[in-house]
Amino acid sequence: MPNCPKCGNKESLPTRTFSVIVEPTKGERGMTERRVGMYTCSNCGMKFPTVISKQRYLIVAEDQLKTIQDELSSVKKGNEDLSARVKGMADQQRDLESSVERAAKANEVRRLQTKLSELEDFVQYLRKEKGELEQKVSKLR
Ligand SMILES: [Zn+2]
Repeated sequence: MPNCPKCGNKESLPTRTFSVIVEPTKGERGMTERRVGMYTCSNCGMKFPTVISKQRYLIVAEDQLKTIQDELSSVKKGNEDLSARVKGMADQQRDLESSVERAAKANEVRRLQTKLSELEDFVQYLRKEKGELEQKVSKLR
């Protein structure tokens, strides 16, 4: 909401709006479109303009714009491919993790089986020892 430059009264609605195209000043590129609102102070009647918004336009050759658009769409395509590959890699990683888990479980089972057969051998050995000792004891009687 602009203020009246004469009396400072706030005005909310312009009496009319229009656009002006402003040529670039030195060192600037492109054109600027300014939307200007004309206000009439409801207090003192002063008419004054205010810039409502600005939009800058760069002049680009059609061929160049086409090239930029083509490059942009190929970058987008590349991005999509990359995303798909990343997703594929994440899936592979999950599969790998679960097969590592399975392998670790299988290893643990093998380790326990080995331990079990070692214990069975030891029990057998102890039974044999026991038998021999019992024989020795019976000879001593
Ligand atoms: Zn005024």
